[in-house]
Amino acid sequence: MKKLLVLGSTGSIGKNTLDLARAFKDQFEIIGLSSNCSIDELEKQILEFNPKAVVVKDKEKSAQLKQRIAGRCEVLSGDEGLLEITKRDNYDVLVTALVGFAGLAPTIEAIKLKKRIALANKETLVVAGELIIKLCEEHGAELIPIDSEHSAIFQCMVGEQKKYVNKIILTASGGPFLNKNKEELSSVTIDEALNHPNWKMGNKITIDSATMMNKGLEVIEAFWLFHLPKEKIEVIIHPQSIVHSMVEFTDGSIKAQLSTPDMKLPILYALTYPERIGYDGVHTDFKKMANLTFFEPDFDKFVCLKIAYEAIEAGGTAPCILNASNEIAVDSFLKGKIKFTQIPDLIQSALDSIPADKAINLEKVFETDLKTREFLNKKV
Ligand code: MG
Repeated sequence: MKKLLVLGSTGSIGKNTLDLARAFKDQFEIIGLSSNCSIDELEKQILEFNPKAVVVKDKEKSAQLKQRIAGRCEVLSGDEGLLEITKRDNYDVLVTALVGFAGLAPTIEAIKLKKRIALANKETLVVAGELIIKLCEEHGAELIPIDSEHSAIFQCMVGEQKKYVNKIILTASGGPFLNKNKEELSSVTIDEALNHPNWKMGNKITIDSATMMNKGLEVIEAFWLFHLPKEKIEVIIHPQSIVHSMVEFTDGSIKAQLSTPDMKLPILYALTYPERIGYDGVHTDFKKMANLTFFEPDFDKFVCLKIAYEAIEAGGTAPCILNASNEIAVDSFLKGKIKFTQIPDLIQSALDSIPADKAINLEKVFETDLKTREFLNKKV
């Protein structure tokens, strides 16, 4: 029986994780859950899974939930609640499905306790990859990616040696605006941007997919997870999202991992690795696929992808500035305050105005995140 702490349990990855916990009741026990403010959904999850404790980020909602469930489980609140619940040594796997920078601090606590981190929160590696990887090595914590592309690469690497890797090839669906030209992008609406062709995901990552910043963040995530120079991380557009990513080896051979797009598969792998489990929830039928296509991304149209590669080059706190400015820009777009094409402009302005620090430590990461948010909040 594996004991799971699922942070971000009312989001898309969180719900998929609980679907799996429901399907494998004899394998997984839910120890703790968290949500920003969706207490109706969280209440249902509490009644079904009986966690020992839950966290609601919003303090008012947390108090409301406490009243409703009347002592059925402990209810914590705020960022301090997230830290408190991860510091308790009563779980085996932390599933971190929080959105954005918020995932960093709880992940560090779980690493210190030598837990397995099933990582869906890519921003943790984007802002502090160097520190997180070092901490994992120091404490002997396992970091297993849930992000489908990175899970694919991780699976392709099983039984292989890094010295034989030529490059990794991250596939990208291209999002809803793959076939729009650069000029058309300036007038797209929020609803159009939220309408992803292949994946049903939360709002933040769906907008990141539309700008292709999601792939930019994933390049940075891969850079830290697989210790490869950015020249060895290639992005290729694959609109069908069947090939989840590939690894090319020195002899020219390529391994790929494929399936119908469904996040349950990478989640399940992160929970069961190095074992696999009998599961028939996802079916892939090649006879029903018309074609699988691949082509080069347009860096001129998807500026965010270009900026992300540049942030790796700049190093230090630059990816942290990139991430914080992206979070503010995406939030502003979702609130109707800015146009879609202003997202990369704002990120670029933050990177141009805030000096990146080459040397990185945790204090600097938190400081840079805050500084960038303050800078951009004045602009939008
Ligand atoms: Mg992904």
